[in-house]
Amino acid sequence: MAEVRTRIAPAPSGSIHVGNARTALYNWLFARHHGGVFVLRVEDTDAKRATEEAYAAVVEDLRWLGLTWDEGPEVGGPFGPYRQSERSGRYRAAVMQLLDSGHAYRCYCTPEELAERRQRALGEGRTPGYDGHCRHLSDADIARYEAEGRRWAVRFAVPPGRTIAFEDVVRGEIATPTERIPDFVIARADGSPTYVLAAGLDDALMNITHVIRGEDLIPATPRQLLLREALGITDRPVFAHLPLLVDGSGRPLSKRWGDVAVRAYRERGFVPEAMVNYLALLGWSYDDRTNIFSVQELIERFSLERVGRNPATFDVAKLEWLNQHYIKQMPPSRLAEQIRPFCIAAGLDAAGDEGRALLERVAPLLSERLKRLSDAPAMVAFLFRRMAPDERAAEALQGQGEYLGAAADALEGLERWDRADIEAALRALAERRGLKPRRAFQPIRAAITGTLVSPPLFESLEILGRDETLARLRAAAGQPVAAAGGKA
Ligand code: GLU
Repeated sequence: MAEVRTRIAPAPSGSIHVGNARTALYNWLFARHHGGVFVLRVEDTDAKRATEEAYAAVVEDLRWLGLTWDEGPEVGGPFGPYRQSERSGRYRAAVMQLLDSGHAYRCYCTPEELAERRQRALGEGRTPGYDGHCRHLSDADIARYEAEGRRWAVRFAVPPGRTIAFEDVVRGEIATPTERIPDFVIARADGSPTYVLAAGLDDALMNITHVIRGEDLIPATPRQLLLREALGITDRPVFAHLPLLVDGSGRPLSKRWGDVAVRAYRERGFVPEAMVNYLALLGWSYDDRTNIFSVQELIERFSLERVGRNPATFDVAKLEWLNQHYIKQMPPSRLAEQIRPFCIAAGLDAAGDEGRALLERVAPLLSERLKRLSDAPAMVAFLFRRMAPDERAAEALQGQGEYLGAAADALEGLERWDRADIEAALRALAERRGLKPRRAFQPIRAAITGTLVSPPLFESLEILGRDETLARLRAAAGQPVAAAGGKA
Protein backbone atom coordinates (compact mmCIF):
# COMPACT_ATOMS: atom_id res chain seq x y z
CA MET A 1 0.00 0.00 0.00
CA ALA A 2 1.18 3.49 -0.79
CA GLU A 3 1.72 5.70 2.23
CA VAL A 4 -1.57 6.05 4.06
CA ARG A 5 -2.87 9.61 4.23
CA THR A 6 -6.00 10.40 6.20
CA ARG A 7 -7.56 13.69 7.15
CA ILE A 8 -10.00 15.36 9.46
CA ALA A 9 -11.80 18.29 7.93
CA PRO A 10 -13.67 20.16 10.60
CA ALA A 11 -15.67 23.27 9.92
CA PRO A 12 -14.63 25.63 12.69
CA SER A 13 -17.85 26.30 14.51
CA GLY A 14 -16.45 26.26 18.04
CA SER A 15 -15.61 23.26 20.16
CA ILE A 16 -15.85 20.08 18.11
CA HIS A 17 -18.82 17.77 18.35
CA VAL A 18 -18.09 14.37 19.92
CA GLY A 19 -19.03 12.79 16.57
CA ASN A 20 -16.31 14.73 14.80
CA ALA A 21 -13.90 13.92 17.58
CA ARG A 22 -14.63 10.22 17.02
CA THR A 23 -14.04 10.68 13.29
CA ALA A 24 -10.79 12.52 13.98
CA LEU A 25 -9.67 9.76 16.33
CA TYR A 26 -10.36 6.97 13.83
CA ASN A 27 -8.49 8.81 11.10
CA TRP A 28 -5.62 9.44 13.45
CA LEU A 29 -5.49 5.84 14.71
CA PHE A 30 -5.64 4.50 11.19
CA ALA A 31 -2.78 6.74 10.06
CA ARG A 32 -0.68 5.93 13.13
CA HIS A 33 -1.35 2.20 12.79
CA HIS A 34 -0.01 2.27 9.24
CA GLY A 35 2.81 4.70 9.93
CA GLY A 36 1.08 7.17 7.64
CA VAL A 37 0.17 10.83 7.66
CA PHE A 38 -2.74 12.51 9.41
CA VAL A 39 -3.80 15.80 7.87
CA LEU A 40 -5.85 18.57 9.46
CA ARG A 41 -7.74 20.57 6.89
CA VAL A 42 -9.97 23.34 8.11
CA GLU A 43 -13.18 23.94 6.21
CA ASP A 44 -13.45 27.62 6.91
CA THR A 45 -15.02 28.80 3.68
CA ASP A 46 -18.18 29.91 5.44
CA ALA A 47 -16.90 33.30 6.56
CA LYS A 48 -19.91 33.94 8.78
CA ARG A 49 -19.35 31.00 11.07
CA ALA A 50 -15.61 30.57 10.79
CA THR A 51 -14.28 33.00 13.34
CA GLU A 52 -10.71 32.84 14.64
CA GLU A 53 -12.04 31.81 18.07
CA ALA A 54 -13.96 28.95 16.52
CA TYR A 55 -10.83 27.86 14.70
CA ALA A 56 -8.73 28.10 17.86
CA ALA A 57 -11.31 26.01 19.73
CA VAL A 58 -11.04 23.19 17.18
CA VAL A 59 -7.26 23.18 17.38
CA GLU A 60 -7.37 23.22 21.16
CA ASP A 61 -9.80 20.30 21.32
CA LEU A 62 -7.70 18.17 18.99
CA ARG A 63 -4.58 18.96 21.02
CA TRP A 64 -6.36 18.14 24.26
CA LEU A 65 -7.30 14.75 22.84
CA GLY A 66 -3.68 14.27 21.79
CA LEU A 67 -4.53 13.97 18.08
CA THR A 68 -1.41 15.50 16.63
CA TRP A 69 -1.46 16.25 12.93
CA ASP A 70 1.49 15.82 10.60
CA GLU A 71 0.27 18.31 8.03
CA GLY A 72 -2.08 21.18 8.53
CA PRO A 73 -2.39 24.67 9.91
CA GLU A 74 0.39 25.59 12.34
CA VAL A 75 2.67 22.77 11.12
CA GLY A 76 2.47 23.23 7.34
CA GLY A 77 3.23 20.49 4.83
CA PRO A 78 3.74 19.92 1.11
CA PHE A 79 0.07 20.21 0.11
CA GLY A 80 -0.80 23.48 1.84
CA PRO A 81 -2.37 25.78 2.53
CA TYR A 82 -4.55 23.72 4.83
CA ARG A 83 -7.25 26.26 5.47
CA GLN A 84 -9.80 26.25 2.71
CA SER A 85 -10.27 29.99 3.02
CA GLU A 86 -6.76 30.26 1.56
CA ARG A 87 -7.40 27.89 -1.33
CA SER A 88 -10.10 29.72 -3.26
CA GLY A 89 -7.97 30.01 -6.41
CA ARG A 90 -7.87 26.24 -6.72
CA TYR A 91 -11.63 25.90 -6.39
CA ARG A 92 -12.23 28.64 -8.91
CA ALA A 93 -9.89 26.98 -11.41
CA ALA A 94 -11.70 23.65 -11.03
CA VAL A 95 -15.08 25.29 -11.50
CA MET A 96 -13.84 27.05 -14.66
CA GLN A 97 -12.45 23.78 -15.97
CA LEU A 98 -15.79 22.06 -15.40
CA LEU A 99 -17.69 24.91 -17.07
CA ASP A 100 -15.34 24.88 -20.04
CA SER A 101 -15.55 21.13 -20.49
CA GLY A 102 -19.34 21.18 -20.31
CA HIS A 103 -19.48 19.21 -17.06
CA ALA A 104 -21.07 22.15 -15.32
CA TYR A 105 -23.37 25.00 -16.20
CA ARG A 106 -24.52 28.36 -14.98
CA CYS A 107 -27.76 28.32 -13.04
CA TYR A 108 -29.66 31.59 -12.93
CA CYS A 109 -32.57 30.37 -10.84
CA THR A 110 -33.34 32.59 -7.88
CA PRO A 111 -33.91 31.14 -4.41
CA GLU A 112 -37.59 32.11 -4.71
CA GLU A 113 -37.99 30.27 -8.00
CA LEU A 114 -36.26 27.22 -6.60
CA ALA A 115 -38.49 27.22 -3.53
CA GLU A 116 -41.62 27.59 -5.62
CA ARG A 117 -40.74 24.73 -7.95
CA ARG A 118 -39.80 22.61 -4.99
CA GLN A 119 -43.21 23.18 -3.44
CA ARG A 120 -44.89 22.33 -6.69
CA ALA A 121 -42.89 19.11 -7.02
CA LEU A 122 -43.81 18.10 -3.49
CA GLY A 123 -47.45 18.92 -4.18
CA GLU A 124 -47.43 16.72 -7.26
CA GLY A 125 -45.76 13.90 -5.40
CA ARG A 126 -42.50 14.19 -7.35
CA THR A 127 -39.11 14.03 -5.65
CA PRO A 128 -37.93 17.54 -5.01
CA GLY A 129 -34.46 18.38 -6.17
CA TYR A 130 -33.11 20.56 -8.88
CA ASP A 131 -35.13 20.02 -12.04
CA GLY A 132 -32.44 20.88 -14.56
CA HIS A 133 -34.11 24.14 -15.51
CA CYS A 134 -30.91 25.95 -16.56
CA ARG A 135 -29.12 22.96 -17.99
CA HIS A 136 -29.98 23.70 -21.60
CA LEU A 137 -30.59 27.43 -21.73
CA SER A 138 -30.58 29.01 -25.14
CA ASP A 139 -28.27 31.93 -25.85
CA ALA A 140 -31.32 34.16 -25.81
CA ASP A 141 -32.34 32.95 -22.33
CA ILE A 142 -28.85 33.60 -21.08
CA ALA A 143 -28.77 37.06 -22.63
CA ARG A 144 -32.10 37.89 -21.01
CA TYR A 145 -31.01 36.69 -17.55
CA GLU A 146 -27.76 38.59 -17.84
CA ALA A 147 -29.65 41.70 -18.86
CA GLU A 148 -31.88 41.28 -15.80
CA GLY A 149 -28.70 41.36 -13.74
CA ARG A 150 -29.31 37.91 -12.32
CA ARG A 151 -26.47 36.27 -10.50
CA TRP A 152 -25.56 32.70 -11.25
CA ALA A 153 -24.41 29.70 -9.35
CA VAL A 154 -22.64 26.78 -10.97
CA ARG A 155 -24.20 23.35 -11.06
CA PHE A 156 -22.65 20.05 -11.97
CA ALA A 157 -24.35 18.36 -14.90
CA VAL A 158 -24.95 14.86 -13.59
CA PRO A 159 -24.75 12.38 -16.46
CA PRO A 160 -27.99 10.43 -16.97
CA GLY A 161 -28.32 6.67 -17.02
CA ARG A 162 -25.33 5.69 -14.96
CA THR A 163 -24.71 4.06 -11.62
CA ILE A 164 -21.95 5.36 -9.40
CA ALA A 165 -20.68 2.61 -7.16
CA PHE A 166 -17.96 2.35 -4.56
CA GLU A 167 -16.90 -0.23 -2.06
CA ASP A 168 -17.27 1.13 1.46
CA VAL A 169 -15.00 -0.62 3.95
CA VAL A 170 -17.71 -0.49 6.62
CA ARG A 171 -20.90 -0.83 4.61
CA GLY A 172 -19.95 -2.81 1.55
CA GLU A 173 -20.93 -1.78 -1.93
CA ILE A 174 -22.93 1.41 -2.25
CA ALA A 175 -24.37 2.04 -5.70
CA THR A 176 -26.33 5.15 -6.63
CA PRO A 177 -28.12 5.55 -9.97
CA THR A 178 -27.44 9.03 -11.29
CA GLU A 179 -31.20 9.56 -11.62
CA ARG A 180 -31.15 9.95 -7.86
CA ILE A 181 -28.51 12.67 -7.93
CA PRO A 182 -29.89 16.08 -8.89
CA ASP A 183 -27.56 18.56 -10.58
CA PHE A 184 -25.80 19.88 -7.50
CA VAL A 185 -24.29 23.28 -6.86
CA ILE A 186 -20.51 23.44 -6.90
CA ALA A 187 -20.11 27.22 -6.66
CA ARG A 188 -22.52 29.67 -5.09
CA ALA A 189 -23.57 32.94 -6.67
CA ASP A 190 -20.93 34.75 -4.60
CA GLY A 191 -18.31 32.51 -6.18
CA SER A 192 -17.62 30.46 -3.05
CA PRO A 193 -17.25 26.71 -3.51
CA THR A 194 -19.68 24.31 -1.86
CA TYR A 195 -18.53 21.63 0.53
CA VAL A 196 -18.88 18.87 -2.06
CA LEU A 197 -16.51 20.55 -4.47
CA ALA A 198 -13.99 21.93 -1.99
CA ALA A 199 -13.67 18.75 0.06
CA GLY A 200 -13.72 16.44 -2.97
CA LEU A 201 -11.08 18.45 -4.76
CA ASP A 202 -8.86 18.82 -1.72
CA ASP A 203 -8.98 15.12 -0.98
CA ALA A 204 -7.62 14.61 -4.49
CA LEU A 205 -5.05 17.43 -4.38
CA MET A 206 -3.82 16.34 -0.96
CA ASN A 207 -3.48 12.70 -2.02
CA ILE A 208 -5.79 11.50 0.69
CA THR A 209 -5.82 7.71 0.43
CA HIS A 210 -8.58 6.92 2.94
CA VAL A 211 -11.65 9.06 3.48
CA ILE A 212 -13.04 8.09 6.87
CA ARG A 213 -16.08 10.13 7.86
CA GLY A 214 -19.59 9.99 9.27
CA GLU A 215 -22.28 8.10 7.41
CA ASP A 216 -24.29 11.31 7.09
CA LEU A 217 -21.83 12.10 4.30
CA ILE A 218 -22.55 9.01 2.22
CA PRO A 219 -24.60 11.09 -0.29
CA ALA A 220 -21.56 13.29 -0.91
CA THR A 221 -19.45 10.37 -2.05
CA PRO A 222 -20.99 9.62 -5.49
CA ARG A 223 -21.00 13.36 -6.18
CA GLN A 224 -17.34 13.62 -5.31
CA LEU A 225 -16.58 10.60 -7.49
CA LEU A 226 -18.39 12.26 -10.40
CA LEU A 227 -16.36 15.41 -9.83
CA ARG A 228 -13.10 13.48 -9.86
CA GLU A 229 -14.02 11.81 -13.08
CA ALA A 230 -15.00 15.08 -14.75
CA LEU A 231 -11.77 16.70 -13.62
CA GLY A 232 -9.77 13.84 -15.09
CA ILE A 233 -8.60 12.49 -11.74
CA THR A 234 -8.33 8.78 -12.28
CA ASP A 235 -7.59 7.40 -8.83
CA ARG A 236 -10.00 7.31 -5.93
CA PRO A 237 -9.54 6.97 -2.21
CA VAL A 238 -10.84 4.16 -0.05
CA PHE A 239 -14.05 5.21 1.69
CA ALA A 240 -15.18 4.22 5.16
CA HIS A 241 -18.36 5.74 6.52
CA LEU A 242 -18.70 5.51 10.28
CA PRO A 243 -21.94 4.63 12.05
CA LEU A 244 -24.16 7.28 13.50
CA LEU A 245 -23.88 8.29 17.14
CA VAL A 246 -27.19 8.10 18.94
CA ASP A 247 -28.51 8.91 22.39
CA GLY A 248 -30.09 6.44 24.80
CA SER A 249 -33.37 6.49 22.90
CA GLY A 250 -31.79 5.90 19.52
CA ARG A 251 -31.98 9.46 18.20
CA PRO A 252 -28.99 11.07 16.54
CA LEU A 253 -26.92 12.98 19.06
CA SER A 254 -27.94 16.57 18.98
CA LYS A 255 -27.86 19.62 21.18
CA ARG A 256 -31.33 18.75 22.44
CA TRP A 257 -29.88 15.69 24.12
CA GLY A 258 -27.27 17.47 26.19
CA ASP A 259 -23.63 18.07 25.77
CA VAL A 260 -22.31 17.20 22.37
CA ALA A 261 -19.20 19.37 22.45
CA VAL A 262 -15.88 17.89 23.46
CA ARG A 263 -15.22 21.05 25.44
CA ALA A 264 -18.21 20.39 27.69
CA TYR A 265 -16.74 17.05 28.76
CA ARG A 266 -13.39 18.60 29.43
CA GLU A 267 -15.00 21.30 31.53
CA ARG A 268 -16.98 18.72 33.44
CA GLY A 269 -13.81 17.01 34.57
CA PHE A 270 -13.25 14.20 32.10
CA VAL A 271 -9.63 13.36 31.31
CA PRO A 272 -8.46 13.01 27.72
CA GLU A 273 -7.31 9.40 28.23
CA ALA A 274 -10.90 8.42 29.11
CA MET A 275 -12.39 10.44 26.30
CA VAL A 276 -10.08 8.87 23.71
CA ASN A 277 -10.68 5.36 25.01
CA TYR A 278 -14.41 5.99 25.06
CA LEU A 279 -14.61 7.53 21.60
CA ALA A 280 -12.63 4.60 20.22
CA LEU A 281 -15.35 2.24 21.39
CA LEU A 282 -18.12 4.17 19.67
CA GLY A 283 -18.37 2.01 16.59
CA TRP A 284 -15.19 -0.03 16.88
CA SER A 285 -14.48 -3.04 19.03
CA TYR A 286 -11.55 -5.34 19.40
CA ASP A 287 -13.33 -8.21 21.08
CA ASP A 288 -16.37 -8.53 23.32
CA ARG A 289 -14.49 -8.37 26.57
CA THR A 290 -11.96 -5.61 26.46
CA ASN A 291 -13.01 -2.07 27.14
CA ILE A 292 -9.84 -0.50 28.37
CA PHE A 293 -7.24 0.45 25.82
CA SER A 294 -4.30 2.75 26.17
CA VAL A 295 -3.57 4.96 23.18
CA GLN A 296 -0.69 2.68 22.26
CA GLU A 297 -2.94 -0.37 22.32
CA LEU A 298 -5.49 1.43 20.19
CA ILE A 299 -2.86 2.27 17.61
CA GLU A 300 -1.72 -1.33 17.51
CA ARG A 301 -5.21 -2.82 17.28
CA PHE A 302 -7.23 -0.36 15.30
CA SER A 303 -8.55 -1.47 11.95
CA LEU A 304 -11.44 -0.32 9.78
CA GLU A 305 -12.58 -3.93 9.40
CA ARG A 306 -13.62 -3.88 13.03
CA VAL A 307 -15.82 -0.84 12.67
CA GLY A 308 -19.47 -1.87 12.89
CA ARG A 309 -22.48 -0.63 10.98
CA ASN A 310 -24.89 -0.30 13.85
CA PRO A 311 -25.50 3.08 15.41
CA ALA A 312 -23.30 3.58 18.46
CA THR A 313 -24.97 4.75 21.65
CA PHE A 314 -23.30 7.50 23.59
CA ASP A 315 -23.40 6.41 27.20
CA VAL A 316 -22.16 8.90 29.75
CA ALA A 317 -22.11 6.29 32.53
CA LYS A 318 -19.54 4.23 30.64
CA LEU A 319 -17.48 7.32 29.95
CA GLU A 320 -17.60 8.10 33.64
CA TRP A 321 -16.50 4.60 34.51
CA LEU A 322 -13.50 4.93 32.21
CA ASN A 323 -12.80 8.35 33.63
CA GLN A 324 -12.57 6.92 37.11
CA HIS A 325 -10.30 4.18 35.86
CA TYR A 326 -7.86 6.62 34.28
CA ILE A 327 -7.91 8.95 37.26
CA LYS A 328 -7.03 6.02 39.54
CA GLN A 329 -4.12 5.07 37.30
CA MET A 330 -2.73 8.53 36.94
CA PRO A 331 0.63 9.33 38.48
CA PRO A 332 -0.01 11.81 41.32
CA SER A 333 1.98 14.56 39.69
CA ARG A 334 -0.16 14.39 36.58
CA LEU A 335 -3.34 14.19 38.59
CA ALA A 336 -2.23 17.28 40.49
CA GLU A 337 -1.67 19.11 37.21
CA GLN A 338 -5.05 18.00 35.90
CA ILE A 339 -7.03 19.13 38.91
CA ARG A 340 -5.18 22.42 39.27
CA PRO A 341 -7.25 24.42 36.74
CA PHE A 342 -10.43 23.19 38.42
CA CYS A 343 -9.13 24.29 41.81
CA ILE A 344 -8.11 27.67 40.46
CA ALA A 345 -11.49 28.11 38.81
CA ALA A 346 -13.12 27.28 42.15
CA GLY A 347 -11.21 30.17 43.71
CA LEU A 348 -8.51 28.17 45.49
CA ASP A 349 -5.05 29.68 45.55
CA ALA A 350 -3.49 26.85 43.55
CA ALA A 351 -1.74 28.88 40.87
CA GLY A 352 1.61 29.34 42.62
CA ASP A 353 4.34 26.88 43.56
CA GLU A 354 3.01 26.43 47.05
CA GLY A 355 -0.43 25.54 45.78
CA ARG A 356 1.03 23.17 43.25
CA ALA A 357 3.09 21.42 45.94
CA LEU A 358 0.02 21.07 48.12
CA LEU A 359 -1.95 19.46 45.29
CA GLU A 360 0.90 17.06 44.61
CA ARG A 361 0.86 15.95 48.21
CA VAL A 362 -2.87 15.44 48.34
CA ALA A 363 -3.23 13.86 44.88
CA PRO A 364 -2.50 10.28 46.03
CA LEU A 365 -5.41 10.59 48.48
CA LEU A 366 -7.78 11.62 45.72
CA SER A 367 -7.08 8.96 43.10
CA GLU A 368 -9.55 6.51 44.54
CA ARG A 369 -12.20 9.09 45.23
CA LEU A 370 -12.67 11.17 42.11
CA LYS A 371 -15.14 10.34 39.40
CA ARG A 372 -14.30 13.55 37.67
CA LEU A 373 -11.56 16.10 38.07
CA SER A 374 -14.24 18.61 38.94
CA ASP A 375 -14.94 16.71 42.17
CA ALA A 376 -11.49 17.72 43.44
CA PRO A 377 -11.92 21.35 44.56
CA ALA A 378 -14.56 20.50 47.14
CA MET A 379 -12.33 17.76 48.55
CA VAL A 380 -9.17 19.82 48.84
CA ALA A 381 -10.56 23.26 49.64
CA PHE A 382 -9.85 22.76 53.36
CA LEU A 383 -6.13 22.65 52.61
CA PHE A 384 -6.30 26.15 51.19
CA ARG A 385 -8.66 27.86 53.60
CA ARG A 386 -10.70 27.39 56.71
CA MET A 387 -14.12 26.18 55.82
CA ALA A 388 -17.29 27.12 57.61
CA PRO A 389 -18.94 23.82 58.60
CA ASP A 390 -21.76 22.65 56.39
CA GLU A 391 -25.02 21.53 57.97
CA ARG A 392 -24.01 17.98 58.77
CA ALA A 393 -20.58 19.03 60.00
CA ALA A 394 -22.18 21.64 62.27
CA GLU A 395 -24.35 18.92 63.75
CA ALA A 396 -21.33 16.68 64.33
CA LEU A 397 -19.63 19.53 66.17
CA GLN A 398 -22.51 20.02 68.63
CA GLY A 399 -21.34 19.67 72.22
CA GLN A 400 -17.87 18.45 71.21
CA GLY A 401 -15.86 21.42 72.48
CA GLU A 402 -14.17 19.66 75.34
CA TYR A 403 -13.39 16.58 73.24
CA LEU A 404 -11.88 18.63 70.41
CA GLY A 405 -9.71 20.46 72.94
CA ALA A 406 -8.51 17.07 74.20
CA ALA A 407 -7.76 16.01 70.64
CA ALA A 408 -5.67 19.15 70.19
CA ASP A 409 -3.79 18.37 73.41
CA ALA A 410 -3.17 14.80 72.29
CA LEU A 411 -1.68 15.97 69.02
CA GLU A 412 0.24 18.93 70.33
CA GLY A 413 2.93 16.89 72.00
CA LEU A 414 3.66 14.56 69.07
CA GLU A 415 7.29 14.28 68.34
CA ARG A 416 6.82 13.53 64.65
CA TRP A 417 3.95 14.94 62.59
CA ASP A 418 3.14 12.03 60.37
CA ARG A 419 0.12 9.94 59.54
CA ALA A 420 1.04 6.97 61.76
CA ASP A 421 1.69 8.99 64.91
CA ILE A 422 -1.37 11.17 64.35
CA GLU A 423 -3.49 8.10 63.98
CA ALA A 424 -2.00 6.44 67.08
CA ALA A 425 -2.59 9.52 69.21
CA LEU A 426 -6.22 9.95 68.09
CA ARG A 427 -7.00 6.26 68.46
CA ALA A 428 -5.54 6.24 71.96
CA LEU A 429 -7.74 9.21 72.84
CA ALA A 430 -10.82 7.48 71.44
CA GLU A 431 -10.03 4.41 73.46
CA ARG A 432 -9.58 6.35 76.69
CA ARG A 433 -12.96 7.89 76.09
CA GLY A 434 -14.57 4.60 75.09
CA LEU A 435 -15.60 6.03 71.70
CA LYS A 436 -16.08 4.01 68.52
CA PRO A 437 -13.86 5.29 65.70
CA ARG A 438 -16.70 6.83 63.69
CA ARG A 439 -17.97 8.80 66.68
CA ALA A 440 -14.47 9.77 67.62
CA PHE A 441 -13.24 10.96 64.25
CA GLN A 442 -16.32 12.67 62.82
CA PRO A 443 -16.11 15.80 64.95
CA ILE A 444 -12.41 16.10 64.14
CA ARG A 445 -13.09 15.77 60.46
CA ALA A 446 -15.84 18.37 60.74
CA ALA A 447 -13.59 20.78 62.61
CA ILE A 448 -10.76 20.43 60.12
CA THR A 449 -12.58 20.23 56.78
CA GLY A 450 -16.01 21.69 57.44
CA THR A 451 -17.59 18.57 55.92
CA LEU A 452 -18.02 14.90 56.72
CA VAL A 453 -16.76 13.74 53.35
CA SER A 454 -13.11 14.36 52.75
CA PRO A 455 -9.95 12.49 51.95
CA PRO A 456 -8.69 10.11 54.65
CA LEU A 457 -8.46 11.95 57.93
CA PHE A 458 -4.98 11.22 59.26
CA GLU A 459 -3.27 11.87 55.94
CA SER A 460 -5.26 15.06 55.63
CA LEU A 461 -4.03 16.28 58.99
CA GLU A 462 -0.48 15.39 58.09
CA ILE A 463 -0.69 17.46 54.92
CA LEU A 464 -2.47 20.34 56.60
CA GLY A 465 0.36 20.59 59.15
CA ARG A 466 0.52 20.72 62.89
CA ASP A 467 -0.03 24.43 63.50
CA GLU A 468 -3.07 24.72 61.31
CA THR A 469 -4.57 21.48 62.63
CA LEU A 470 -4.22 22.57 66.23
CA ALA A 471 -5.57 26.03 65.42
CA ARG A 472 -8.69 24.61 63.80
CA LEU A 473 -9.31 22.11 66.60
CA ARG A 474 -8.94 24.79 69.23
CA ALA A 475 -11.11 27.20 67.34
CA ALA A 476 -13.81 24.56 67.08
CA ALA A 477 -13.36 23.86 70.78
CA GLY A 478 -13.96 27.52 71.47
CA GLN A 479 -10.48 27.87 72.93
CA PRO A 480 -8.20 30.82 72.36
CA VAL A 481 -5.94 30.09 69.43
CA ALA A 482 -2.28 30.92 69.33
CA ALA A 483 -1.23 32.63 66.09
CA ALA A 484 -1.43 29.94 63.45
CA GLY A 485 0.52 29.47 60.26
CA GLY A 486 -1.25 32.01 58.07
CA LYS A 487 -4.10 29.95 56.72
CA ALA A 488 -6.85 31.99 58.30
N1 GLU B 1 -16.68 19.41 7.44
C1 GLU B 1 -17.28 18.14 7.32
C2 GLU B 1 -17.88 17.75 8.62
O1 GLU B 1 -17.41 18.23 9.64
C3 GLU B 1 -16.25 17.11 6.89
C4 GLU B 1 -16.72 16.35 5.75
C5 GLU B 1 -15.75 15.30 5.28
O2 GLU B 1 -15.10 14.65 6.11
O3 GLU B 1 -15.67 15.14 4.08
O4 GLU B 1 -18.81 16.99 8.69
